[in-house]
Amino acid sequence: MRPLDSAWTVAAIVIVGIAAMVGIALGTGLEAILVFLLGGVGAVLLAIYPLSNIREATPAAIHSDEYAADTTAAVLEALTDPVLLVREGRVLNANGAAIALLGKHITGEDIRTAIRHPAAAEHLARSFRGNSDRGIELVGLGTREQRWLMHVAELGDGRRLVHLVDRSLAHAAERMRVDFVANASHELRTPLAAILGFIETLGDPEAGGDEGTRNRFLNVMMKEARRMQTLVDDLISLSRIESEKHRAPDDAVDLATLVGDVNRVVKDSPDGRDRDLMIVIDKGVPPVAGDRAQLSQLLHNIVGNAIKYGRGGTPIRITMSRNGDSMVRLSVEDEGEGIASEHLPRLTERFYRVDSGRSRAMGGTGLGLSIVKHIVERHRGRLDIASIQGKGTTVTVNLPAAPGALSSN
Ligand code: ADP
Repeated sequence: MRPLDSAWTVAAIVIVGIAAMVGIALGTGLEAILVFLLGGVGAVLLAIYPLSNIREATPAAIHSDEYAADTTAAVLEALTDPVLLVREGRVLNANGAAIALLGKHITGEDIRTAIRHPAAAEHLARSFRGNSDRGIELVGLGTREQRWLMHVAELGDGRRLVHLVDRSLAHAAERMRVDFVANASHELRTPLAAILGFIETLGDPEAGGDEGTRNRFLNVMMKEARRMQTLVDDLISLSRIESEKHRAPDDAVDLATLVGDVNRVVKDSPDGRDRDLMIVIDKGVPPVAGDRAQLSQLLHNIVGNAIKYGRGGTPIRITMSRNGDSMVRLSVEDEGEGIASEHLPRLTERFYRVDSGRSRAMGGTGLGLSIVKHIVERHRGRLDIASIQGKGTTVTVNLPAAPGALSSN
């Protein structure tokens, strides 16, 4: 019994009881009591009648047109993909996502005007009765870069459901993957071709017999092989960092120690740039929550770039300070020729170089800043690259301080 039913039963009993008591109180005969009782029961039946009517009316209401329309609109609205209901080629209903994509005006419009796309018009002209539509890709619907997969389903009552699925991100990811494989293969093929060429030449008794030529060739082969090795190492690093990106590192790492390590490596290098390194570390900078090996790689890549692309004899400033309550800021500033602003947003793309020849000549793989970006992302930090042409470049990394370290500083 539903709560409403039991409430009515109690009310009926109360009414009958009151009727009987009034009869007794009036002191009239048994007939009068019976009249009161019958009157009470009658009242209860009358009261219950509309209730049973309501109960019967509820399922009918569910099937009424108005209710169905409301439910359809609510269901469409609950979907996050753009969805349209179409009858006889006109849009009956469109959810918020469809209106956001195609415009406010689409309800009541011809579907071919609502979805202005030649491939869509052609697809909508087909019948999908009895067979499921595998969809058609609409390139450039919305903005020029967007791609949507459009499905049409016949609902069997003359209506059709047109469903659009955003494929833009999936397509961009797929393109990036394809480009990445093509670029990586190209980068490896160039030194490999050089090595193979030299091996062939050395195999020739005439050229290979001369010691001077042989040594020269072996040197070049060694350089090319090292280039391949650096590239493979960078590729492995990238894939490792990417595979761990959802697991934030939590060791407390003292960046100042890592800066000291980089300083020692630069000192050992023959180019004399160690004289240009200026290191300023504020007092009380807390350790960061990090992965020591990855942060060391980040520092080597950023400082390495400042050395590669900065002008010899100009300072390279490495500064470290606290940024607010919970972050540590590290920045590396060089006085090189800088980077034109149109390149800045693309520097962290894999294999993106401003000047490929120069980068290769310096032993660059074009993956350094991409690795830096992924390391910063894994550390839940922020990377900023600012540059003024003719003046120099500043790379700034903000990283979260190690949680345990904050209270003690
Ligand atoms: P690469 O191995 O070529 O150095 P990166 O990913 O580290 O690759 O950097 C991408 C490109 O960004 C470089 O090829 C270079 O053109 C530019 N770049 C990076 N750092 C600097 C800098 N400090 N000054 C000028 N250009 C830079």
